[in-house]
Amino acid sequence: MPIINIPEKVCLHCGGTEWYARKVFRKKTQSEGYRYVCNLKKTEIIKEWVKKNPEKYAKGRKKVRLDINYKEKSSVYQKTNVQTLSDRYIVSTIITAAKARGVLYKKDIPQDLIDMKRTQLLLKRQIA
Ligand SMILES: [Zn+2]
Repeated sequence: MPIINIPEKVCLHCGGTEWYARKVFRKKTQSEGYRYVCNLKKTEIIKEWVKKNPEKYAKGRKKVRLDINYKEKSSVYQKTNVQTLSDRYIVSTIITAAKARGVLYKKDIPQDLIDMKRTQLLLKRQIA
C-alpha cells in the first residue's frame, strides 16, 4: 500500500502530510488519477472497524498464526524469487528504489526495464 509524503498537501483534519494514495479511473474526464486519504484517518478507520468487528479481526489473526506453514512457505517462496531473479522480485526492487521519488506502480514498469534491472543484478552478483 503506497503511503507518500506530500509536504505541500496538508491535511485539514490532523495537519499531517502523509497520504495514502490509490489509483482511480475518473469517468468524467476518462483519465487516471489519484485519490488521497489521510494516513492518520485511514488508521483510525481501521481501528474503528476492529472495534466494531473484534471477532472477525481475531479470526483473521488466528488463522495466520495457526498456519505453521504460512511463514515457512512465504520465506521459501521469497528465497526462490531472489535466487531466480523473478519478475516479481525485480519489480519489487524497482519500486523500492523509486520510493524516494514518488509512487510507482507495478503496471507502470515496462518489461524492458525489468530485463535491464535483471541484467544489472546479475552483473552485480558476478562481481561480488
Ligand atoms: Zn489527517
